[in-house]
Amino acid sequence: MEIPVKIAPDEGGYTGRECPTCEKYFKIKFGTGLPSASECHCPYCNHVGLQNVFWTKQQLEYARSVVLNQISGDLLQQMKRMERRPDPNAFISIGITVKGQPTPIAYYTESELEERLTCSSCTLEYAIYGAFGFCPDCGVHNSFQILNANFDLALKVLDLAKISADEIKSKLVENALEDVISSFDGFGREHCLNLPGKLSFQNIAATKEKLLRENGIDISLGLNTAQWSFVCEQFQKRHLLAHKMGVIDDDYASRTGTHPSLIGRKVVITESDVRILIENLQVVGQNLVKGVARS
Ligand SMILES: [Zn+2]
Ligand SMILES: [Zn+2]
Repeated sequence: MEIPVKIAPDEGGYTGRECPTCEKYFKIKFGTGLPSASECHCPYCNHVGLQNVFWTKQQLEYARSVVLNQISGDLLQQMKRMERRPDPNAFISIGITVKGQPTPIAYYTESELEERLTCSSCTLEYAIYGAFGFCPDCGVHNSFQILNANFDLALKVLDLAKISADEIKSKLVENALEDVISSFDGFGREHCLNLPGKLSFQNIAATKEKLLRENGIDISLGLNTAQWSFVCEQFQKRHLLAHKMGVIDDDYASRTGTHPSLIGRKVVITESDVRILIENLQVVGQNLVKGVARS
C-alpha cells in the first residue's frame, strides 16, 4: 500500500533540506535552478546525493504521522461499524462501544535562515546558515558571487561619497576601502579552507608569495608590476586606517616607498583609487578561484 504525502514549501516558497552526511539544514526553492536536478549538493560539506535523501527529520516525522493518521482513522471507522447497543429485552446482551482518536499529525514549520541567495550560475534560490556555501543544484561555490555583491555595495558607497560634503566623503571612502579589503579577506580565507596552513589576506603581499611558493598559485596573474604594487599599497593604507588612525608611520613608508617627509601625515585615500582596487581585486579573486580549483 502506498500513501502519497505532500511536503509543502513554506510561505516564502522554500522547502527545507537536511544533509544526510553532516545533518545541517538549508532550504531551496524547487523549480528555480537547473530544470532537472535529480541530485542535490549539500551547501556546507558538498555531499552529493539524490533529492529524496535530503528530507529533514521533521518532514519524515510529519509524513510518517500523516500515514499513521490515515491508517488509524480508517481502522477506527471500520471498528465503529461494529458498534452496537445492548438489547434491553435480551436476558444477556453485550454492547460494543469504540473509543479512540486517530494518531495525531506531527505538524512542523521550516526554520528561518540567515542568508538567502540566488545562484549566479544556475539561478537557484536557496537559503543557508552563515554566508558561504555550494549551490545545492549546480554545486558552484558562492564565495566569488558574495565577493562581487560586496564590491557592488562598496561601489554604491563610493557613488554616495561623490555627492557628499568633504568630511563625510572621506569617511565614506575610507569605509569603502576597509569593506573591500575585509570582504576580500573573507572570500580568500573561505576559498583556501582546504589548502594546508592558515591563510590571511590582510597582508596580501606575503600571502601572494606563500601561495606561489607552496601551491603554485599566482594570484597576481594578469596584473603588471605597477598594478600589483598599487594593490599592495591600498592594503597597507587599510592597515594604517585600522591600526594607526590613518597616520603614516615608518613601517608604511618603508613598505610603500613613501618619502620620509610624509611620516606623521594622514594617508590620502581617493575614491578613484578604491574603484581601481576593486577592478584589480576582481582579477586577483578570479586567479584564486581558478588556482585553488586546479590544486
Ligand atoms: Zn552536508
Ligand atoms: Zn547553482
